[in-house]
Amino acid sequence: IYILAIESSCDDTAASVMCNGKILSNIVASQKIHEEYGGVVPELASRAHQQNIVPVVDQALKKANINKSQLSAIAFTRGPGLMGSLLVGTSFAKSLAFGLNIPLIDVNHMQAHILAHFIEEDDFKKPPFPFLAMTISGGHTQIVRVNSYFNMEVIGETMDDAVGEAFDKSGKLLGLGYPAGPEIDRRAKLGNPKAFAFTKPKVGGLKFSFSGLKTQILYFVQKQVKANPDFIKENLNDICASIQYTIIGILIDKLKLATKQTGIKHIAIGGGVSANTGIRQALKDGESKFGWTTYVPKFEYTTDNAAMIAIVGHLKFLEGDYAEQNVMASSRLKI
Ligand code: ATP
Ligand code: FE
Repeated sequence: IYILAIESSCDDTAASVMCNGKILSNIVASQKIHEEYGGVVPELASRAHQQNIVPVVDQALKKANINKSQLSAIAFTRGPGLMGSLLVGTSFAKSLAFGLNIPLIDVNHMQAHILAHFIEEDDFKKPPFPFLAMTISGGHTQIVRVNSYFNMEVIGETMDDAVGEAFDKSGKLLGLGYPAGPEIDRRAKLGNPKAFAFTKPKVGGLKFSFSGLKTQILYFVQKQVKANPDFIKENLNDICASIQYTIIGILIDKLKLATKQTGIKHIAIGGGVSANTGIRQALKDGESKFGWTTYVPKFEYTTDNAAMIAIVGHLKFLEGDYAEQNVMASSRLKI
């Protein structure tokens, strides 16, 4: 079974070819244009997808060393994401599937961040059902109870900002580039996580909130800069370490609660923020401390990619779960 998968939900144009669950190619064209704006500009993203999609798909096929005529199905991201971006991938996938007369398979991007754990890899353990998935990305922060591939239930999510936004927006006010997550991660390793104390939001149950933390950091930095204009420069690594430490604390607290409430002790993480080395370490440390088992995706399957879309395409193909030609992109698609 050969699946060609296309991902275009935000600002990365990606294509991947999968053979029986194994990745043959995984191409991502990241859009540099947004850096100068400090965030994704939807109109520009859509235009860049239009420019990138043909070369990216060509490259994915070439790298996989297969011909279009060998494909069994085309999988694409239907949502959630930016409408203008989703439309490019959706229209492209539809036309290609129609032209080749093969099945079209729609994929939910957030399910894909979770099911990326089922890509066939050597020496990689897959989570057993049921497990808890914590999806932490640029647009989402969710804890999902995963009963089987396509039976998932969101049991907790953010009421405001996503955890990726907490990283990116705090980084922005520190003068770091976009996206700031990777840079904060890098600097956090060089700083003292307890240099500055930030309070965790007081939201009950499995709900998350990150907008208050962002404001807290803003006021803290403003106050310090007033007293010492070089405050950020002199303490950047410590500030990054302290912010990351606070965010990790919030995530771990909620995971502890989720394992207690559900009795499920297998935890898989996914989404761009799951690339964070501090979070990965904290989860690992939790194995002996809290008795859970954690599953961390390979680095290239954390931020947006089409390999994760391909595995969902593969699993749906096995079930004969295809989309109709009139399927529409859906920017707020739910799990
Ligand atoms: P969604 O999946 O919710 O639609 P998205 O697709 O825009 O959102 P992803 O590509 O999954 O998001 O993740 C991007 C986010 O991951 C950005 O906010 C980025 O800062 C963050 N990120 C990437 N690497 C790291 C890291 N090492 N540490 C912290 N955050 C990171
Ligand atoms: Fe994503």
